[in-house]
Amino acid sequence: MLQTKKISSVELTSHFLQRIDQNRELNAFITVDAETALANARQADISLNDKSGDLLTGLPLALKDIFCTRGMLTSCGSRMLANFTSPYDATVTERLNAAGSVLLGKTNMDEFAMGSSNESSYFGPVLNPWNVDCVPGGSSGGSAAAVSARLCPATVGTDTGGSIRQPAAFCGLTGLKPSYGRISRYGMVAFASSLDQAGPITQSAEDAALLLQAMAGFDPRDSTSLDIEVPDFLPALKTSLDGVTVGVAASFLDSTLDPDVLAGIEEALRTFENLGARLVDIELPNSSAGIPCYYVIALAEASSNLSRFDGVRYGHRAEQYDDLMDMYEQSRAEGFGDEVKRRILIGTYALSAGYYDAYYLKAQKIRRIIADDFRNAFQRCDLIAAPTTPTTAFRLSEKVDDPVAMYLNDIFTVPVNLAGLPAVSIPVGLDQAAMPIGMQLIGPYLEESRILAAAHSYQQVTPWHQRIPEAFT
Ligand code: GLN
Repeated sequence: MLQTKKISSVELTSHFLQRIDQNRELNAFITVDAETALANARQADISLNDKSGDLLTGLPLALKDIFCTRGMLTSCGSRMLANFTSPYDATVTERLNAAGSVLLGKTNMDEFAMGSSNESSYFGPVLNPWNVDCVPGGSSGGSAAAVSARLCPATVGTDTGGSIRQPAAFCGLTGLKPSYGRISRYGMVAFASSLDQAGPITQSAEDAALLLQAMAGFDPRDSTSLDIEVPDFLPALKTSLDGVTVGVAASFLDSTLDPDVLAGIEEALRTFENLGARLVDIELPNSSAGIPCYYVIALAEASSNLSRFDGVRYGHRAEQYDDLMDMYEQSRAEGFGDEVKRRILIGTYALSAGYYDAYYLKAQKIRRIIADDFRNAFQRCDLIAAPTTPTTAFRLSEKVDDPVAMYLNDIFTVPVNLAGLPAVSIPVGLDQAAMPIGMQLIGPYLEESRILAAAHSYQQVTPWHQRIPEAFT
């Protein structure tokens, strides 16, 4: 519509700014910058008029508040950074700007991306637009709620152990975690550096491909970014499912899975078969070790990454203190919330002398075995289908006092991060309470095109990705 001038970027941007304003109770945004957004929209309209536009020219977007944005608050959902105005742009921010998109603002998230319900945010919980008594998932909960309630057409989140896919599943959206190294992590506040990856949360696989195209590619400022050619993701969407083999692990579809979720996945698999795909049995025998392995590695890395927040170089500094040590202690005690503190303590413990071999090194070995399981499975299939989450969205406060129950939410998502693989979660139905069900498609390393094409084929013949929560139509 922008390109055919059915609507201008200013009109589109105003529309979404108004929706954001009318739906503040969802708490999806931490920062909205209407003035800059409208100024950029005016610029975009000029480019659209003289046809000098780029891939995303004029398209309003929002970013998870973990991406540095020059001149704008980048809080990472924490009191620690509640006063941090970034002096530079993350690579993701820079590339989306360069592609012509219009930044509406920054979305709410779990503190330092630690959580599965968006309840650990210093800025308060986010509500799920499908049922405001439920969580939107986390840690990119604000991003998912914003797209689901149509407060913006698409957002970018991050996924360390499921934080793009799980909220996408809970909010009826498409969420892509690309292969590790596909998108630069420069300027993205680090949680667990060997697992973190940015990716789009969108309405469709087609939109995800569009955003991925704009963000992917080598960046010399991130030493783990891959110096390889970026494929054309959009034309690849047309690849049909005919003859594609889809691996299914029986151990992922056992009786511990919510029956409605199971039924939704089975129905989606039948649709894949109708589209020409062939289902094959695979085994992922060590996936059950994913959660303990992830919660050692991620927390060890987090304890190291978060040591930079000392009240001197960044962030919150306590007003009252006796000496230097006390200043560090008071600043960190005040700046971090309970979940972040819990994780720093566990991570520091796992890395300490005497425990390093028993926990950290052991977890690294298990990580390798989990990655090998996937490699073996891909000898037998082109892609793997699995549930994204064991249940649909749960109620607010239901799991806040039980960290292990909260962690178990990520049982199907963390193995993918440990192996560095790409995966996309797509909506495949609604449960009996009319809450969205998600299914993830996991690909071999760097095969984003393959899983996006499969998701796109499915979305051509099913309505789920077009469903909007009733209160927000
Ligand atoms: N929910 C997981 C955790 O709490 C994953 C978070 C993420 O992917 N950022 O660590």
